[in-house]
Formats: sequence, C-alpha cells, structure tokens
Amino acid sequence: MMNLVFFGPPGSGKGTQAEIIASNMELKHISTGDIFRKNIKEKTELGIMAQAYMKEGKLVPDQLTINLLSNELDMCRSSKGFIFDGFPRTLTQAESFDKLLSVKNMPISLVISLEVSENELVYRLLERGKVSGRVDDQDENIIRNRIQVYNKETSILKDYYVNTINEYFISINGEKNIDVISEDISLYIKNFIVNSHKL
Ligand code: AMP
Repeated sequence: MMNLVFFGPPGSGKGTQAEIIASNMELKHISTGDIFRKNIKEKTELGIMAQAYMKEGKLVPDQLTINLLSNELDMCRSSKGFIFDGFPRTLTQAESFDKLLSVKNMPISLVISLEVSENELVYRLLERGKVSGRVDDQDENIIRNRIQVYNKETSILKDYYVNTINEYFISINGEKNIDVISEDISLYIKNFIVNSHKL
C-alpha cells in the first residue's frame, strides 16, 4: 500500500501535484481543504463551523479535522493507497494521524515537502484567487496570515517527520515547472518501490 503525505505552505502546489500523482498511480486523493469547502457549499454543520476559521485564514480546530479525516478513511477502505494533501497541519494532528494509521496498519510511505519562497507563494495565491473564487485566495492579508500560520504551526512537522521517518521525508524544489516537479516526485516514488521490494 502506498501512502503519501504532500506537505508544504499554501500555494506550494500540493493540490496540483497530489492530483497528478493520484491519477497516475490510482491513489485516493484526500484534501482536507477540499472536503471542508464541499461542506461549506452544502451548508452542512461541519461546513458552517469550518467556514468561520477558513475565511480568516486560520486552521480549523484539530479535533474536527481529525474526525473528518478518520471518517474519510473509513469510507475508502478498498483504496490501494492514499495521498494526504493539507493534512496533518499541526503536531496534534500528526500524532493522532500516526495512531490512526498504526491501528489501520497503513504506514506512511513518503512525506513529500514542496519548497517555495514566500514571495512566490503570495503571487501564486493572488493569481489563483482571480479564477478559483476562493475568498481566502483573494485578500493579501488573509494569504499572509495563512503563510504565518503555516510557519508557526505546520512547518515544525518537518522536524517531526525527519525524526520519525527520516529518509522517507523528501524535500522538493516546488518552483520548477509543474511537469518537472511531477517527474521529480515520481522518481522518488519509484526508488521507494524498488527499495521496499529489496527488503
Ligand atoms: P487548503 O485547501 O489546504 O489550502 O486549506 C484551506 C483551509 O482549510 C485552511 O486555511 C484551513 O482553514 C482549512 N484546513 C484545511 N486542512 C486543514 C487541516 N489539516 N487542519 C486545519 N485546518 C485545515
């Protein structure tokens, strides 16, 4: 089973790359942001709660997000693997995620971290905001807040994963062309598959 975590600040291209790799490898793409947005659109109770945080660029509380992720995994039991995009985003989420995955006997294969400079992130998100219709992509203050939240609460997970899964944490230059980034990621995945067959 292949379980990939796509990690990086907002605008680093996690969603784009997750979609490409999920389609190439027939993995189930789970984006917590997309699930929240779907719930907001459908005006569910979860959507109404999440919206208050998302429109300000804050994180949705951990317990809500962890429950959502756990339910989503239960619904897709037959998948041959997953790409987690935008989860985990805090230490609490990462620790709960580890427990959940260990109960389900589905270890993380690789954590792929996309590295992009802050100026490039702001530029990309403002450009995306012109077409995505996402309120949180249209206001530079909200965008900067999301990046600050990432720097404060999420970027620490790099150390967490380097300490826990070490060589399975991969840093990738996320400022290259989309196709080149997909090729770089695919190469790491192929190496992982070859090495795990050797074990
Ligand atoms: P994204 O689509 O990944 O950029 O996420 C958009 C927004 O959804 C974030 O700014 C958060 O408000 C919320 N969100 C998505 N994933 C998470 C998560 N794992 N933990 C908390 N909030 C999240």
